[in-house]
Amino acid sequence: MSLTEWQAKEILCEIGRRVWVRNYVAANEGNFSYRLADDVVLCTPTLQSKGFLKTEDIVTVDMTGRKVGGIKEVTSEIRIHLEIYKQRNDMRAVIHAHPPFATAFAVVKHPLPRCVLPEVEIFLGEIPIVDYATPGTQEVADVVRPFLSDFTAFLLANHGALTIGKDPEDAYFKMEIVEEYCRILLYTRLLDGYTQISEENLSELLEIKKQLGIPDRRLRPGADRSCATPAPAPGTPDTPPAIDRPAIDALVRQILREKGLV
Ligand SMILES: [Zn+2]
Repeated sequence: MSLTEWQAKEILCEIGRRVWVRNYVAANEGNFSYRLADDVVLCTPTLQSKGFLKTEDIVTVDMTGRKVGGIKEVTSEIRIHLEIYKQRNDMRAVIHAHPPFATAFAVVKHPLPRCVLPEVEIFLGEIPIVDYATPGTQEVADVVRPFLSDFTAFLLANHGALTIGKDPEDAYFKMEIVEEYCRILLYTRLLDGYTQISEENLSELLEIKKQLGIPDRRLRPGADRSCATPAPAPGTPDTPPAIDRPAIDALVRQILREKGLV
């Protein structure tokens, strides 16, 4: 059953509430869209909190970016949304947000490791870090374009995260998984670092992925199925900043004392 335009707008409003409640955006940040038909794209308005959207706030554009419905002004990031729909006919929704853990990795530009969590491998796969580009410009579409055929989740350097999906919920779930993955990776830095599953384990996950019909470039013949972490981008520090364990321990003791727990 195909959705009515009103139902599709309701879904985008619900995505906005979830993105805002989970602190994936601050103030008026973030934008998302839904390609409802080949030449009909619903998208969020500019300069408005995504946590309180009403259906009448959603703007409709055609595939050239021309506004064909709605009273608000369209998001300044509409170019990257339309570029994605042009390159990926199988993808019908795009979400861009600034979730804090993913954005921290995008700022530090440390490549996300492979072969750590099964859900990440199955539902996302590899997550590249795309070069910085000024938000709202054509440059954002230009830097993301080379990655679009192979990936569905991206970290945007010094900016945030971007996910694409077959519908808005699919794209939103990917954003949740990216953020959760980055949160867990950060926690591992406080412990002894992460461990990885084997390349044989990865092959089994890719087989599950194939059965689920989720595309992954590693399913192509002769593809690299290595668990090695991708090389850092040029200009990235070689090693992560060292954890100052005595300072962290002292801080934890101080907090516990202040709360009267020790
Ligand atoms: Zn942004």
